[in-house]
Amino acid sequence: MPAWPGRRGDGEGRPGDAATEPVVDERTVVAALDEIPIGVVVALPDGRVLQNRRAPAMTGVRHVDVLVWRAAQEQLAAGDAEREIVVAGPPPRHFVIRSSRLSPSGAVARIEDVTDRKRIDAVRTDFVANLSHELKTPIGGVAALSDALVGEDDPETVRRLAGRIVSEAHRMAAIVDDLLDLSRIEFGSGDMEPLDMADVVREAVGQQQHTAQQSAVSVSVSVGGECTVLGDRSQLVSAVSNLVENAVKYSNRGGEVDVTCRTSDGRVVVSVADHGIGIAAADHERIFERFYRVDKGRSRATGGTGLGLSIVRHVVDNHGGTVTVRSEEGRGSTFTVSLPSSGGAGA
Ligand code: ADP
Repeated sequence: MPAWPGRRGDGEGRPGDAATEPVVDERTVVAALDEIPIGVVVALPDGRVLQNRRAPAMTGVRHVDVLVWRAAQEQLAAGDAEREIVVAGPPPRHFVIRSSRLSPSGAVARIEDVTDRKRIDAVRTDFVANLSHELKTPIGGVAALSDALVGEDDPETVRRLAGRIVSEAHRMAAIVDDLLDLSRIEFGSGDMEPLDMADVVREAVGQQQHTAQQSAVSVSVSVGGECTVLGDRSQLVSAVSNLVENAVKYSNRGGEVDVTCRTSDGRVVVSVADHGIGIAAADHERIFERFYRVDKGRSRATGGTGLGLSIVRHVVDNHGGTVTVRSEEGRGSTFTVSLPSSGGAGA
């Protein structure tokens, strides 16, 4: 039978075999600790301190290392304890340090960088708060309108109230539809296949044709070059469709929207330009956040959910692309999506 490595004795020792005394050299222990994805500091009974490489170098920022390291040392002396330290940013970083006594003596401290977890928790909490807020308004509306409907005899009033209930219900359905889209898109990169973006653009514009006609907005499409990308068709149609929908919604009656698809420096570039209300520079970054709207009233009046541009950004991220906006209040906006071209491969 082969010897159990690192144990003293006749070579018959096994883990948990109390008859033989384990001899493990320090480098092996540290190498094992290095495999652990958190920082670990061990104070041995003879006064030596072992640490894995993540313990002092968790952050890559020197003064942060020192602060965390010092906190871990104090914690070792404290025995069983847990504390959180926040290192001022930007961006601020959060560490949790947990220490325990080792039997029969010594101590171990585990250092965990929980910055990302904290951020995700905060995003989740924000999201739930925003979603509740978004749904509260139409749900409250339906409740109030239904109350008013009870006992109402006047057919004209009944028709008016019922119509408003239907539109609130549509608003809720639109929010839920967009959320389902968003979570599907966030969940995975989709079914990638070689696609002609010109087809994607035409399909997306087709989806918005009815809305455009109702607002007397004309949408033109122009295509130049071979616009082949590797992508998920339904995600890309949804992204371009959201941009065209916005361009129509935020145009004035009788306005014009230009959608172009072309190639440039190995990229396929789709741009959607309108001459509508435009967006102030201060809002350019924020409009891609979930539920962020510059003008809540106008967004609601046009059936907006505040999720369209989040969907666009996620789709573009999934495809290794970028989305940018150029816009001026009162003059219009141009949204530009740039995707890596697959150069016709397999198309
Ligand atoms: P919404 O459903 O409200 O349109 P989006 O996420 O699609 O949500 O857009 C976020 C906000 O960005 C909108 O509420 C609007 O204020 C602004 N916006 C987006 N596209 C345009 C545009 N083409 N022109 C002017 N404002 C726009």
